[in-house]
Amino acid sequence: MADIAKDDELRRHVRDWLTDNIPPDLRRSRTYEDRLAVDRLLGEGGWLGYTWPTEFGGRGGTPREAIIVDDELARGGISAAGSPSRQGFRHLGPTLLVHGKDGQRQEFLPRIRNLSDIWCQGFSEPGAGSDLASVSTRAELVGDVFRLNGSKIWTTHAQYANWCYVLARTAPGPRHHNLTFLMVPMHQPGITVRPIKQLAGGTEFNEVWFDDAETSADNVIGELNDGWSIAVTTLSTERGFNLISHYRGYLEELGQMASRASAETDLIAIGDLYAQLLGIEAISARIMQALETSMLNDTALASGGKLVNTEFHQRMTEIALGLSVNSPGLAGEAFITFLEARAETIYGGTSQIQRNILAERVLGLPR
Ligand SMILES: Cc1cc2nc3c(=O)[nH]c(=O)nc-3n(C[C@H](O)[C@H](O)[C@H](O)COP(=O)(O)OP(=O)(O)OC[C@H]3O[C@@H](n4cnc5c(N)ncnc54)[C@H](O)[C@@H]3O)c2cc1C
Repeated sequence: MADIAKDDELRRHVRDWLTDNIPPDLRRSRTYEDRLAVDRLLGEGGWLGYTWPTEFGGRGGTPREAIIVDDELARGGISAAGSPSRQGFRHLGPTLLVHGKDGQRQEFLPRIRNLSDIWCQGFSEPGAGSDLASVSTRAELVGDVFRLNGSKIWTTHAQYANWCYVLARTAPGPRHHNLTFLMVPMHQPGITVRPIKQLAGGTEFNEVWFDDAETSADNVIGELNDGWSIAVTTLSTERGFNLISHYRGYLEELGQMASRASAETDLIAIGDLYAQLLGIEAISARIMQALETSMLNDTALASGGKLVNTEFHQRMTEIALGLSVNSPGLAGEAFITFLEARAETIYGGTSQIQRNILAERVLGLPR
């Protein structure tokens, strides 16, 4: 049973800590350097990896508490998206907690939490995006190291990261088999990173080339040739857990839209968005419930939640862009948010792929 008074106390604690420690302008900044500074402050304050066991530098908090923390951070202007620590502490960390060996947890989790390591995700390839199981980057075991050859694409923050978790083919054979989940150090001669210019103007993601890049055989998460099941855990976490704090961000954006709407038609559109947002809040509450008992392994919630959230945000940013025409000062900001929302239905698996997953794996419809 939820203890509302305890929840409220935690909320107040996070708010007071934010007021005392992170200036509002820094919280809302979009530059990588500022985001990193914010993450470092959050790490020092003990807010990253809140649910992780204390032996790995976490606070041993409950998922419910972690969500309250996320919610308050989002309310204070710190969004989970774009955070430099995201791949480490939101995606790889939970994967290590479930599938990592003790030594790997002891070595990597504290370094993720104190931001000594910045991670990137090496899943997508030019010929393997939606169809992730067809990755062709090879990793060959030579003595006690893996030697990697191939390329990845759309690798967010690869230019800053010192580690990458990579899905690579370790033996020929059926698509979902013979893939291995490897942790690979980025700073070595066999790795080349080339930034890609994005629609919204930045260069957040990159191409990454492996030419005889090496990593220790100790850096396999899970078993050799069983990387697919590990990647599924990572993707499920990416789709589900992160969605909750998005709700708060959407609510903030909607509030800003309402404050500059004047025409009756605008207000009707905003009312309609608010009704949809209440549905998203209900889904977020269900995800919170699922997380109370285990890591998010509910496909319907993870895929359904991602689909509903990201498509809602696109509709909202389209309407916000229309409203901003009457407030020229806001047009630039609304346009960037509109462009950024385009990416949300792509990363972590496109909307079409989420619909396929729901149809096949949840509803059992024929392929
Ligand atoms: C901002 C951003 C950041 C990203 N960061 C990372 C990262 O850090 N690491 C990483 O590994 N990847 C990252 N990605 C890549 C992302 O995961 C892929 O773009 C995504 O999985 C889609 O793959 P694709 O681009 O190859 O498109 P494709 O797979 O070529 O798909 C093209 C179109 O065809 C549709 N389609 C494909 N297959 C099917 C099907 N079976 N049924 C119906 N429709 C289908 C898709 O929905 C899409 O509309 C990022 C992407 C973006 C936009």
